Amino acid sequence: MKTFNVNIVTPDGPVVDTNVELVSAKAKSGELGIMAGHVPMVAPLQIGAVRLVLGDNKSELVAISGGFLEVRPDQVTILAQAAEKAENIDAARAKEAKMRAERLLQGKQDQVDLKRAELALKRATNRLNVHEGKL
Ligand code: ATP
Repeated sequence: MKTFNVNIVTPDGPVVDTNVELVSAKAKSGELGIMAGHVPMVAPLQIGAVRLVLGDNKSELVAISGGFLEVRPDQVTILAQAAEKAENIDAARAKEAKMRAERLLQGKQDQVDLKRAELALKRATNRLNVHEGKL
């Protein structure tokens, strides 16, 4: 199958630079599956997992905390607020972040705090899912 290059870049630096057969990602508009030759486009991403299909039945999951996916000829770039490969996820840290967010959501605060806690909960849950190999 034809391959193409995928770069995942965050403000802290590059996280992924590899050749893949397929990328699937959760865009705000729904699930995206991108193969070589896809039409150029830009799509905002949800907090979610990106699956990189490398071929030979191998695939990798990356936790993405929102950002943009850009398709250009022979190249996909994901500009993410934060991104971690499954093997680099600190599960204990994500569990703590999840509990902290859940505690905040149970308390009474203003809308801004609630929104912030909801996003923190989504990031932590996504990291735990990716760490466990779940999409
Ligand atoms: P925390 O409250 O644990 O910091 P967070 O969701 O607020 O979590 P972010 O602001 O999204 O963290 O990320 C800050 C930096 O820490 C980023 O570089 C991100 O990749 C990294 N990071 C956050 N959580 C984890 C984790 N569980 N494992 C590995 N890296 C993480």
